[in-house]
Amino acid sequence: MPVTPRPGILDIRPYKPGAADAPGITNPVKLSSNENPMGCSPDAKAAFERASEKLNLYPDGSARRLREAIAEVEGLEADRIVCGCGSDELLQLLGRAYLEPGDKVVQSEYGFLVYRLVAMTSGAQLISAPETDYRADVDALLEAAGEDARIVFVANPNNPTGTYLTGDEIRRLRDGLPKDCLLVVDEAYAEYVDLPDYETALPMARDRDDTIVTRTFSKIHGMAALRLGWAYADRSIIDVLNRVRGPFNVNLPAIEAGVAAIRDTEFRDRSAQHNREQVALLTQQLRGIGLDVTPSAGNFVLVHFQETAGKTAADADRFLTERGLIVRPLVPYNLPNALRVTAGLADDNRKIVAALTDFMAG
Ligand SMILES: *Cc1c(COP(=O)(O)O)cnc(C)c1O
Repeated sequence: MPVTPRPGILDIRPYKPGAADAPGITNPVKLSSNENPMGCSPDAKAAFERASEKLNLYPDGSARRLREAIAEVEGLEADRIVCGCGSDELLQLLGRAYLEPGDKVVQSEYGFLVYRLVAMTSGAQLISAPETDYRADVDALLEAAGEDARIVFVANPNNPTGTYLTGDEIRRLRDGLPKDCLLVVDEAYAEYVDLPDYETALPMARDRDDTIVTRTFSKIHGMAALRLGWAYADRSIIDVLNRVRGPFNVNLPAIEAGVAAIRDTEFRDRSAQHNREQVALLTQQLRGIGLDVTPSAGNFVLVHFQETAGKTAADADRFLTERGLIVRPLVPYNLPNALRVTAGLADDNRKIVAALTDFMAG
């Protein structure tokens, strides 16, 4: 008989990343993981290459230079930042440090899948608050949280829906939560947003001791391969995360490339600009062929399909894959009638629109 893990662990369905291959196709277009189609900053690439001379050395376990660079660019305090092996790791560490079996964790209905994994790993109970039009609902989140939620996870903007909560809504959420409930605002796509009523929760995390913001180098900085994320919170929370993280959780090439990437605000802004144009085009053109597209503040769009045989999301996914276009089916998110399409380069997006035009006409 195999050695048994803690109760609940075997109920976890391992996270299934976006597909990378289309059978029989040599160079498929991968639009399944919200990666940056423009690559990464050339400065980050050069720093990564220089780091190859130091692979025998342990990294600085506190990633001090990286925290200082982030603090300088974002106007934060370096000793209130912790870095992680992707923001995924930081989310997992929050679960490890703050959750006990049976604790209540709250997310919105179509919240990022990792929140479920965090809750299940700790044996916590996950409650999903219903959304309206694929958008988180503050009242529903507050009702789900009640008096005893330990952690509330909100991705802002959210993946896979692309919708966001306004600054006022995030404040109303925080003010309505119990004081001993940790609010995690996952801002993986924050740098893409340029909307008047959107606000980062970094100032909230500065002013309070019950709120943490996570960011990532995987999206706008185009460094998903290196696994690098960071979080900003009150020193009491950062201290907790520093106790439970591995002593060298962020590797040396990631630190070096991260310092260069965060300083290259020109690459960041160019990526954001390109993305805004391409998301707007994709949204407009897919709507033009009769598809329902949820308005997106991220670097991807949520596209809805009919339930009629031959016209479903699964049919569209197969059709696209045969043409070497890889997108993300959302069955694990309980969105079986939708596909998530990352905004690629202009040429990739033209291919998506052309293929879906044929699909809809067929
Ligand atoms: C991509 C993504 C992340 C980032 O994960 P990393 O581990 O930093 O690569 C975090 N949250 C959401 C909502 C995401 O979509």
